[in-house]
Amino acid sequence: MTLYAKVQQDACIACGLCQLAAPSLFSYDVNGIASYAPDHNTGSQPVADVAQVAFKLAYTRCPTHAIKRSNQPFPAPTPPRRPEL
Ligand code: SF4
Repeated sequence: MTLYAKVQQDACIACGLCQLAAPSLFSYDVNGIASYAPDHNTGSQPVADVAQVAFKLAYTRCPTHAIKRSNQPFPAPTPPRRPEL
């Protein structure tokens, strides 16, 4: 099954559990907030078949449900609106 992943970073509490479960899939910023590493947290690249077991372990262990999954790519973030002058 094709699976896409993304971390909802405003829900991440920087606990580090996802990297223990799937060290090749998650990276952290200087504050410990996680991101899905293979596609820089864009949710645009499918999780590799060989990584799906590790991903699902991280997904189920995340205490805040910050790790999101989908059967299709996540929509690209919309750029902030510029104020009208
Ligand atoms: S397991 Fe969840 S809360 Fe913990 S660092 Fe990973 S994404 Fe953040």
